[in-house]
Amino acid sequence: MLKKIEHLGIAVKSLESAREFYERVLGFTCQGVEDVPGQKVRVAFFSCGETTIELLEPTDAESPVAKFLEKKGEGFHHVAFHTDDIHAELAHAKSEGARLINETPTTGAHGKQVAFLHPATSHGLLIEFCGKK
Ligand code: ZN
Repeated sequence: MLKKIEHLGIAVKSLESAREFYERVLGFTCQGVEDVPGQKVRVAFFSCGETTIELLEPTDAESPVAKFLEKKGEGFHHVAFHTDDIHAELAHAKSEGARLINETPTTGAHGKQVAFLHPATSHGLLIEFCGKK
């Protein structure tokens, strides 16, 4: 079962520049910056109430986020839902006809297991399942 929104993912060209905006204009404090080699991104986290905002900067031209930026520019990228059982959630989504980007979970930020559903079968939204470590 998907229990809450784990975070909202925003694609940016420059983490440095975007982070400065989130801190100076919006008044957030950066909770940390982390490289996620599996997704070829560097991420920065900000908390807003119970919601986490994740800024993503590609670290490689082959990063899916680099391709997203080329096609669509900066902006909203994905919503991540927390689940206690990512394998069951993936199996359920697949059995219901969703296209999986990751058939098996990969390692995301904070060492958590993550997997993505393709926007083609999610009404245009890139969906991330975010499990435990
Ligand atoms: Zn994410």
